[in-house]
Parts: sequence; C-alpha cells; structure tokens
Amino acid sequence: MLPEVFTHITEYVKQLEQKNKELTQQNTELTEQVNIRKQSRLSEKNDIISRLEGEVKALTQRVKHKEDYIIKLQDKLGKKDCMLSKLSGGNHIIDTENSVFTRKHICKWWEQGTCKFCSDTCKFAHGEDRVGTRFTIDKNGFIVDK
Ligand SMILES: [Zn+2]
Repeated sequence: MLPEVFTHITEYVKQLEQKNKELTQQNTELTEQVNIRKQSRLSEKNDIISRLEGEVKALTQRVKHKEDYIIKLQDKLGKKDCMLSKLSGGNHIIDTENSVFTRKHICKWWEQGTCKFCSDTCKFAHGEDRVGTRFTIDKNGFIVDK
C-alpha cells in the first residue's frame, strides 16, 4: 500500500517538473517575441522620425529659396521705384541721389542669426540704431557704401 502511494507521488512530482519546464520554455519564447516586437516598433518609429526630419529639411530649404527669391524681388522693386531707373528704361544709374536707399526695416535674418551679410552690406538694418542709415547700390547690385 505505502510503496504504491509513494510511486504515485513520485510520478506526480515528475509531471509537475515537466510542466514547469514547458512553462519556463514558453515564458522564454514569449519574452523573446515581445522583445522582437518592441525592437521593430522602435525601428519603425525611428524610420518615421528620420523621414519627418528629411521633410522638415526639405521644407526649410524651400523656405530659404523663397526668402532668397523675395530678396531678389525686393531688389528689383527697389530699382523699379528709382525714378532715374524708370527714366533710363530700366538701366539703373549709379552715383546719383536717386540710387541711395534707406534701411527702413530690421533684418529678419539677422534677428534669427542667419543673415549672410554684415551690417554694412545688408540692405536691412542690423539693429535699431541702423534703421535710417543709407546705402548706395551700384549697377551690379552691390552695396558700394554705408
Ligand atoms: Zn541682414
């Protein structure tokens, strides 16, 4: 009687050990799967972020081109507004009072720290104290004095 019960218990313990082994194995596999999913989610997110960064870069580039274009248009308008330019059929005449311009606005690129010109060669004012200062543009579009 007793040995039989003992055999049963031993058998039962063996079964439990086997079950425990299986569960441990399953747990390991599930943990691996979760890790793999986490990794792929992360790399998807990184992909999205780098794609968005690329788009932001492209848009920034486009804005910069537009800004350059606006500067060119402003230059053209400035020349068109010049009375002597009109009289000369669009040919800008230098060394006359009419080719002198006044800086009326603060340079927005300077405010952002990205202006390509120094305060003497920029058509806009680098600081409040530069508003009202004058400059002359030669026929090549260069500022020839302060
Ligand atoms: Zn400037």
